[in-house]
Amino acid sequence: MVQVSIILLLISSLFDIDVQKSTVPDVPPSYPFFDTTNVTSAYIMGKFDPASHPDFRLIPKKYADQKGRFIRKDVFEAYKKMYHAAKKDGVHLIIISATRNFDAQKKIWEDKWTGKRLLEGGIHAQRDIPDPKKRALKILEYSSMPGTSRHHWGTDIDLNALNNEYFEKGEGMKVITWLLKNSASYGFCMTYTKFDPQRTTGYQPEKWHWSFTPVSAPLTHWAKRNIKDTMITGFEGSETATEIKVVQNYISGIHPSCLPSPN
Ligand SMILES: [Zn+2]
Repeated sequence: MVQVSIILLLISSLFDIDVQKSTVPDVPPSYPFFDTTNVTSAYIMGKFDPASHPDFRLIPKKYADQKGRFIRKDVFEAYKKMYHAAKKDGVHLIIISATRNFDAQKKIWEDKWTGKRLLEGGIHAQRDIPDPKKRALKILEYSSMPGTSRHHWGTDIDLNALNNEYFEKGEGMKVITWLLKNSASYGFCMTYTKFDPQRTTGYQPEKWHWSFTPVSAPLTHWAKRNIKDTMITGFEGSETATEIKVVQNYISGIHPSCLPSPN
């Protein structure tokens, strides 16, 4: 009998954990899940030009920090609703990055890899971190390997500032407080939350990076099933992808609220 009670106690404590988890809204209302029937690995790996892709559009200047940024059309429709609701509450959202294809990500990655662009803290990757795996892991704190970025998909955006401190006071604090309270109603989630038992791998926390889950969640599942580490090639340092297990540790290293169940 004692054993039975212990088991029941264990089950109820597990249940408590589940109840806590379910306070994260599960399914954004009124947004059907994206049908992945026609998804290809070329799309998921960013090997296309958003300027000529029929599902993408330019972001009008008033929503972004500069001209020439692209986003999925369906994501933009949802984003506009969130933008205007935020504006009504006195919060100004600005898209500071959106779709980046393989070539754009390759440029960022290789600039960091070769030291042309210094890493956070002034680190020159090539000179200071000669070991390829260690160098890749350092760059992976904030930048994706080409072929594995959620920015390829047109579902993910960076908002207001690429700087966690910005969101800790003043205007930035107002922005993040509003987003944490309201973004789920528009289908958006904060992707790279702090590390905890719910998110144990992946990029460092990024308070600026948001995903549109009705499209990005099915794409995440698709990527986990179909993209293999051996497919991650075509840039300097790509030989480390398999050892690092980028698909498992980075594509999947997101907060569970970004993987709601289909409605
Ligand atoms: Zn981002």
